[in-house]
Amino acid sequence: MSDTLQGDIRCDVAVVGAGPAGLMAAERLAGAGLTVRVFERMPTPARKLLLAGRGGLNLTHSEPLHAFLDRYGARRRIIAGWLERFGPEDLRAWAAGLGVETFVGTSGRVFPVQMKASTLVRAWLRRLAGMGVTLHTRHRWLGWSEDGTLRFLDGAGAAVSVHARAAVLAAGGASWPRTGSDGTWTDILAARGVAVEPLRPANVGFEVPWSDHLRERFAGQPVKPAALTLGGRRVKGEFVITDTGVEGGAVYALSAPLRDAVERDGWAALGLDLLPDLEAAEVRRRTARRGAESLATFLKKAFALTGPRAALLREFATRDELADPAALALRLKELTIPVTGVRPLDRAISSAGGVRFDAVDERLMLTALPGTFVAGEMLDWEAPTGGYLLQACFAGGVRAAEGVAEWLADGNRQGEQRS
Ligand SMILES: Cc1cc2nc3c(=O)[nH]c(=O)nc-3n(C[C@H](O)[C@H](O)[C@H](O)COP(=O)(O)OP(=O)(O)OC[C@H]3O[C@@H](n4cnc5c(N)ncnc54)[C@H](O)[C@@H]3O)c2cc1C
Repeated sequence: MSDTLQGDIRCDVAVVGAGPAGLMAAERLAGAGLTVRVFERMPTPARKLLLAGRGGLNLTHSEPLHAFLDRYGARRRIIAGWLERFGPEDLRAWAAGLGVETFVGTSGRVFPVQMKASTLVRAWLRRLAGMGVTLHTRHRWLGWSEDGTLRFLDGAGAAVSVHARAAVLAAGGASWPRTGSDGTWTDILAARGVAVEPLRPANVGFEVPWSDHLRERFAGQPVKPAALTLGGRRVKGEFVITDTGVEGGAVYALSAPLRDAVERDGWAALGLDLLPDLEAAEVRRRTARRGAESLATFLKKAFALTGPRAALLREFATRDELADPAALALRLKELTIPVTGVRPLDRAISSAGGVRFDAVDERLMLTALPGTFVAGEMLDWEAPTGGYLLQACFAGGVRAAEGVAEWLADGNRQGEQRS
């Protein structure tokens, strides 16, 4: 069933948002024999996925599933159900099916051999077109009409009504809004009685009140090796000094508790271990043997500590601590970076918050709006970088598609069960 009158479209399932979650739902639904139309507000699809590919597309992670699932924190149990249907190996096999081979990097993260997203997106769009999925770009979803049809505005400013038996909303979070996901759907859903947690920055940089010297000399430089600690959690890795503070992998791994602490208390003490590969006792032994040489020479000779790492030590240790061997050893292993602010959502990698899980059933259908399903970053979960975001978006798209298929198989249609 599929036909189009002027401004009036009919299909089995309308998908809002042509990102990884929406396109995956579309693929599964079309594979189940349903007519599917995808509506995307931007002139081209999957812009955030393509942007993600610019820095090396990290599709998923190769670590054991129990460790993988821990990355979703309080949402572990729910997302485990999605990954049972479409786990990391399924994602790799799916990419291979599109002609995109993947490899496991030294960190365990999984990337396409070509590192970028464009080949995958091109092949995927070809496959979807071949399956009969129609993509309507420049169609912005506005909500519903009184009679339950979906309302869109097309690129020419004309109203478009979509009569669908079911809908999948996959309009993304609100980071990098120029890719199309701007979070304006929160008002549309809240007005229909759907509980939505405010969208907040996740995998984001933080503000640190650097001295002018540190900012001017070291902004843009990576700090590695290093380990960051917060409230008993320790992350070994690397981060980057920015004009305004810190960002990068190790920071993102702690960004949820760090954001919560800064929002709650106005600041947070981020611990920094400048010598993560040396035991404290060994550091003490070496500082105790310091001779008359300058601090810079000693740090370089004893610990190969130079550049931004040495600068951070001078930034946050006192003169007295630097002069005293025991205190110096302590500071090398435990320095405190004062974090005073969270960088804005539009510069974050992803967002936390979104449609609450108590507003959807386990098929990901909105209980307030039967026949309307939600997938991807629109839902209230978060995870660090490392491939966990895309994996959950793809797998959530699969789960929502299965939910739609089950619901339609039971003879339901969108709007029918609305009170
Ligand atoms: C710089 C950067 C790098 C990243 N790197 C990685 C990485 O390496 N690995 C990883 O796992 N994750 C990464 N991510 C995160 C990942 O890209 C996202 O989590 C993922 O794209 C979210 O998928 P989604 O389908 O939920 O939403 P999106 O990809 O945001 O897609 C939603 C789509 O809906 C459309 N839309 C929004 N509102 C409407 C509307 N009203 N009407 C019609 N269409 C609408 C948007 O235009 C958009 O195309 C990165 C993100 C960024 C910003």
